[in-house]
Amino acid sequence: MCSNLPKEKYKSQFGIYVLTLIFSVLFYITTAHAGTTQNIGTNLPVDDQYGLVLEPSPTVNFRFLPSNTAMRQTEQFIEQSPVLETIKQLSQKRFVFSPALNIVFGSDDGPLFDPVTNSIHIPYQFVSETSQLFKKKGLFNTQREVNQATEDALLHTLLHEIGHAYIADRAIPILGKEEDSVDNFATILLLNDIPRGDDIAINSADLFALEDLDTDSFDDADFVSEHSLDLQRYYNILCLVYGSNPNRYQRIFDELPVAERKQQKLRCPDYFTVINQGWLYYLAE
Ligand SMILES: [Zn+2]
Repeated sequence: MCSNLPKEKYKSQFGIYVLTLIFSVLFYITTAHAGTTQNIGTNLPVDDQYGLVLEPSPTVNFRFLPSNTAMRQTEQFIEQSPVLETIKQLSQKRFVFSPALNIVFGSDDGPLFDPVTNSIHIPYQFVSETSQLFKKKGLFNTQREVNQATEDALLHTLLHEIGHAYIADRAIPILGKEEDSVDNFATILLLNDIPRGDDIAINSADLFALEDLDTDSFDDADFVSEHSLDLQRYYNILCLVYGSNPNRYQRIFDELPVAERKQQKLRCPDYFTVINQGWLYYLAE
């Protein structure tokens, strides 16, 4: 008996080795494929280890160029603005850029989209002048409202420039003035995707109306411009807002003479439907 003990012990150890080996092989087989999990049927990225669906990454990059003392406050205003988060979220689902689109604040020229460098440029001066214009014209009672309107106009402007980038990126056919098309791109996104997007669209339309007030007379440069006149851009945005919800915006054309008011109310719901369907066709779901 005694002499058998070591042998028995050896035998039981051998059994443990075999069992361990079998379990190790089984464990390897079941876990080795975890890293190759496919999320079949969607383009959503999947975490390598656990097969979880991850939030898609933003496809825009923000860059802030150094500001001078006069523009320091404007730079901070933009950096802290919720507008950046809104654009990031839209770039995860509605307009997805690969490679990512660069949005540069503090450039000398702009607002503009530069297709060569795939970047949008927004000067600090543009944001600070927008704020001053809202303040000067007395449209709002408080600085808080002025700041809100400035953020709204900045969001519309960014979406307008992103519209240029999106048209270039997707090679979307342009049948008419591109500038009008991207104003529509911005307004349609606001109306479909953004909480209080209608207010944001109206505030950004107001900026065009205020700029029109500063125009004493028109010259050839205004008529040959690639942009529609400020007041046309203003009424175009209002038309889309009204068309998206005629019951809610029955008073939106009150400043117009009766005949034009009637004409807009007749025309704008169909206009909204056409433009909305057109852009939703090209925007990602
Ligand atoms: Zn433009």
